[in-house]
Amino acid sequence: MILILSPHATDEQIDHVIRHVEDLGFQTHVSRGAFRTIVGVIGDEDKLSVEPLNAMPGVEKVVPVLPPYKLASLEAHPTPSIVDVAGVKIGGGHLAMIAGPCAVEGRDRMERIAESIRDAGANILRGGAFKPRTSPYSFQGLGEDGLKILRETGDKFGLPIVTEVMDPRCVELVAEYADMIQIGARNMQNFVLLTEVGKTQKPVLLKRGMSATITDLLMSAEYIMSQGNFGVVLCERGVKGFDNIARNLYDVASVAIVKGLSHLPIIVDPSHATGRPDLIPPCALAGIAAGADGVHIEVHDCPEEAKSDGPQALLPHQYAELADQIRKLAALFNKTISPPAGVAS
Ligand code: PEP
Ligand code: MN
Repeated sequence: MILILSPHATDEQIDHVIRHVEDLGFQTHVSRGAFRTIVGVIGDEDKLSVEPLNAMPGVEKVVPVLPPYKLASLEAHPTPSIVDVAGVKIGGGHLAMIAGPCAVEGRDRMERIAESIRDAGANILRGGAFKPRTSPYSFQGLGEDGLKILRETGDKFGLPIVTEVMDPRCVELVAEYADMIQIGARNMQNFVLLTEVGKTQKPVLLKRGMSATITDLLMSAEYIMSQGNFGVVLCERGVKGFDNIARNLYDVASVAIVKGLSHLPIIVDPSHATGRPDLIPPCALAGIAAGADGVHIEVHDCPEEAKSDGPQALLPHQYAELADQIRKLAALFNKTISPPAGVAS
């Protein structure tokens, strides 16, 4: 950590800062310039970061040397992490092809969609049983019945499943059914929920909050990892923008930025990022080209009957076309798409 002292810091203030830091057990390296003094502090930055050093008279700025997300940082783990979701690898050159309806609506529909996305080459099935809805009067999901349908459908078609948990009290229940637990955008900073999923050993799909910075996203990953669960996959799903021409502002640069900061896999969700079926294919491909470790796409066999997010769903044949294009791009970038354990390669 580096302490930049004010140009007006007095000798007493400078000495006090140095003594205080050394009393805390750190070594200092003092550089006295013509205009200001800089104090380099050597020691465990985590311990020092909890000290309110910038409250000391004469201290102008405290500059950390290490990122605050220690476990999630590339420095902590210089090679890309691979997260294993019931045999499907994500990261380190392996692409996730997550697809399915926004919500689990019923068994027959779930089976039809699962079969179509499996045949198109998806390797993980999604579907929400607990839905975070803006209105309390909108469909809230089928709850545990939805989890059962999703689990049984995944098993029937040989696909691992991912589903959202919204409530810390439901983490155990969702973990019983799911191969991967989704934390939705609205809960990215629900720290109690992050801590609870961190206590499980289930892989976690952590979606970026709609007004969260990239640092916020990585700090939320850190919450999960600090509990011992290292199976975190980040997801760029768009942030609030000023233009309502698309549902959100698809921040494709975040993929490349995260790659320079963290070893964790990051996938893109062009469905929620754009809310428009016509924009999903180009934005999915852009995500892969930017280095994403997979795509998360909502597919519905009859969007006009969908109980949530119908307008943004791709039809099964549209998804199949996109999956073909993704495979071509994957080959170009030397990426592989691991087939689910239950599906012959
Ligand atoms: C979803 O995946 O259906 C969902 C609600 O996504 P998000 O949390 O990104 O809005
Ligand atoms: Mn949705």
